Amino acid sequence: MNYIDEVLAKVKEKNAAEPEFLQAVEEVLESIRPVVEANEDLYRKEAILERITTPDRQFIFRVPWVDDKGQVQVNTGYRVQFNNAIGPYKGGLRLHPSVYLGIIKFLGFEQIFKNSLTGLPIGGGKGGSDFDPKGKSDREVMAFCQSFMTELCKYIGADTDVPAGDIGTGAREIGYMFGQYKRIKSVYEGVLTGKGLTYGGSLVRTEATGYGLLYIVEELLKCHGEDMKGKTVVISGSGNVAIYAAEKAQQLGAKVVTCSDSTGWVYDPEGLDIALLKEVKEVKRARLTEYAAARPSAQYHEGRGVWSIKCDIALPCATQNELFLDDAKELVANGCIAVAEGANMPTTMDATKYLQDNGVWFIPGKASNAGGVATSALEMSQNSERLSWSFEEVDTKLNQIMVNIYHNIDEAAKRYNKEGDYVAGANIAGFEKVVEAMLAQGVC
Ligand code: GLU
Repeated sequence: MNYIDEVLAKVKEKNAAEPEFLQAVEEVLESIRPVVEANEDLYRKEAILERITTPDRQFIFRVPWVDDKGQVQVNTGYRVQFNNAIGPYKGGLRLHPSVYLGIIKFLGFEQIFKNSLTGLPIGGGKGGSDFDPKGKSDREVMAFCQSFMTELCKYIGADTDVPAGDIGTGAREIGYMFGQYKRIKSVYEGVLTGKGLTYGGSLVRTEATGYGLLYIVEELLKCHGEDMKGKTVVISGSGNVAIYAAEKAQQLGAKVVTCSDSTGWVYDPEGLDIALLKEVKEVKRARLTEYAAARPSAQYHEGRGVWSIKCDIALPCATQNELFLDDAKELVANGCIAVAEGANMPTTMDATKYLQDNGVWFIPGKASNAGGVATSALEMSQNSERLSWSFEEVDTKLNQIMVNIYHNIDEAAKRYNKEGDYVAGANIAGFEKVVEAMLAQGVC
């Protein structure tokens, strides 16, 4: 058996109960075949694939907190430190009832290659909890965050592991966690990113994932003689990524006609009202039914359906496995020319293949949503030099990083005769840098 198949079989056996992790590993290993085949003896001897698919370490801990009725609640907290070959572990904290070890491992594994693609010195990690922030009071969220950080603070640090936001973790949660870290450790350092602007946060960090997504799509289109002007865009999700992707798409002259949440979706043929969407989601923390109620042009539908709307560009920005084969077929039939992932692994493997086989330009999340973590790394730089950069300075750097990622993945794909296969390009380019660093650092 060849080395990749051997390792894939081992990973499947060891992690049988973690389908999302297996999906992420399979996607990466399948697409780096040409690189591994060219270096098979060395990689096998050095156990590169076994090492890169096994986290450096993983922490699982109890998170007890008291709810507003005086009842003690118990959640499970996770932090997976996956690979620090090129820099301190870096990656967000997901707070969602679906969180279990397999989700954190898939996200941490993806983060290794994504962070490598940014060109910045950050390793891969991820964490979170099965805590559901939905419907909780501010005090309950604070109680949870303080308890979570009381344990997590033992394993992280500005030069060790720097968590950030992800689904369910935004500026409010980062603030509560930062306060608790500082109180326990007596150190004021950039241990978290996504902080508020008054205490070490970076301008553009809030917008970065969504803006970065559009910057890479803009470059993709430009290189194919197209631009965003007049394009119809469908977006899923209505969180931080979706909101700022929609905002930038409309700034670039496109019309964004959909968004969604966990219960339904909105079709707004006149183009989303971003100010209203922010008011409903960021201020009121309400459902999209409120958006539709306040916007005459918008229709609200229960369930899922954004991929059924005719569009030029589709941007899945909600969560993993939300764009299936049938959705891909509908997008192709409706003339969609590009799909770029704002979420992590939102497109299933068969859907991705169908899109690529049918000539749709497809950019995987580890490249297209890297603007968030890249700007986190810029926040770390500012914290280290105890300075704050202007909005324009950070935004220009973000744009440059996304343009570089596009050319890097495009070039890597071409180098292995896979022109236009940005999945292969992203995995190969991300992998090559990490492996070079691992080999240089010996067996560790
Ligand atoms: N959670 C984001 C991601 O998936 C951002 C991570 C970070 O800023 O560290 O990349």
